[in-house]
Amino acid sequence: MKLNCLGCGNFINLSEEYETYSGCIRCNACSAMLKVKIDESRLREMEFLRFAKPSVEESFGQAV
Ligand SMILES: [Zn+2]
Repeated sequence: MKLNCLGCGNFINLSEEYETYSGCIRCNACSAMLKVKIDESRLREMEFLRFAKPSVEESFGQAV
């Protein structure tokens, strides 16, 4: 599924493992941290947290 980043409007691609997910994701384009709650591929909640510095340890949200 795709989410629209609240920081820059860029699409964030999420893999199937995020179909049911509650937690933080990061936008690759602007490094915004977004708190999301996804239930059966439907976005229930989305909240902008802050901008994070890119880190090699965080590989989630990378476009294929
Ligand atoms: Zn962004």
